[in-house]
Amino acid sequence: MNLHEYQGKEILASFGVRIQRGIVAQNAKEAVEAAKQLTAETGTGWHVIKAQVHAGGRGKGGGVKLAKNLKEVEEIANQIIGMNLITPQTSAEGKKVHQVLVAEDVYYPGESETSEFYMSVVLNRATGKNMIMYSTEGGMDIEEVAESTPHLIFTEEIDPATGLLGFQARKIAFNLGLSGTAFKEMTKFVASLYKAYVESDSNMFEINPVLKTSDDLIMAVDAKVSIDDNALYRRKEYADMRDLREENAIEVEAREVGLNYVDLDGNVGCMVNGAGLAMATMDLIKMAGGEPANFLDVGGTADAKRVEEAFRIILKDPNVKAILINIFGGIVRCDRVAQGVVDAYKNMGDSMNVPIIVRLQGTNAELAKEIIDNSGLAVQSAVQFQEAADKVKAVLA
Ligand code: GDP
Ligand code: MN
Repeated sequence: MNLHEYQGKEILASFGVRIQRGIVAQNAKEAVEAAKQLTAETGTGWHVIKAQVHAGGRGKGGGVKLAKNLKEVEEIANQIIGMNLITPQTSAEGKKVHQVLVAEDVYYPGESETSEFYMSVVLNRATGKNMIMYSTEGGMDIEEVAESTPHLIFTEEIDPATGLLGFQARKIAFNLGLSGTAFKEMTKFVASLYKAYVESDSNMFEINPVLKTSDDLIMAVDAKVSIDDNALYRRKEYADMRDLREENAIEVEAREVGLNYVDLDGNVGCMVNGAGLAMATMDLIKMAGGEPANFLDVGGTADAKRVEEAFRIILKDPNVKAILINIFGGIVRCDRVAQGVVDAYKNMGDSMNVPIIVRLQGTNAELAKEIIDNSGLAVQSAVQFQEAADKVKAVLA
């Protein structure tokens, strides 16, 4: 589950990571109040107004702007809230901005130069260890850095059994070219960032940029945080941070009825039992010249109720031109699934408006085919994989 920047920063702060302070605002009036409050707390007269959407590259798309007085805070907040923010990480339509973070300006001039670093904590599945990736090239697209100057990206692997060791934090601060106060600040920053990552059950913390201010403080200016979905049951305070407006509406509905659904761009809806068979089915659709419209694993119980729920979810996608049902009857008998498909189809009435190809294989497959063929509905049966592919091809033609 992805979080907004302001939520990620809240988590960081709760683990003692220094952050660029800010207050979230839903409209321009709240933004001005937020700016006044921040000025009282931090003494800053300048503020950055930052669009809160689940996408990076906001700065490039005009979603991060500096305001030098309250009038500008109001103007910029008005401009950003409600806009369709298009960044290199959104679709071409962009993302609607519902709220902004009003943050203190931390790029103030002082004794030394400011510098921007990159730092993230993720799991390295190949080694089974956590990994801190960091770079002196902060503030820009890390994929670009990886491509053009890969030697400027460092990694530090952390054994989950021992946790982050003191020398590792010092090595990171050293490799980033820091000394004195900034060096000490960075070792503290790294240690508390790592603690936040582990104790919040996250998949990823990406801080870009980590800023060294002109008075040698190290702080998180941005925060991209993803919490492990499988841990949300024991992290209620984070589960409550979910913002459904940022998520795919069909996927949200599917989750509510307990279906494992991922929305895709194609035109052939899929209903499959088992994730592996679902992947193979998507390959099959591609080979037949179609594009899968979704990934959908209906799981073990493919009864009429389940099939009907799955039909309704699949048909919410207007691009769907045909549905391929591919179910292996191992524990569940094929004739029962076939009857479920027929009953669900009838229940759908007029809302069922695309051709359906059903491939049932396994226990009682022949009986299942008979049920489908004798149903009198616009449902075609197939027994072999290739036969199903050919039928999909025929209905798309
Ligand atoms: P992103 O573009 O979505 O990654 O959003 P960021 O939070 O990383 O902000 C984008 C850029 O805005 C940063 O790289 C900074 O250069 C700039 N920025 C962020 N905070 C401040 C600030 O307090 N003052 C100034 N002058 N610039 C800032
Ligand atoms: Mn950023």
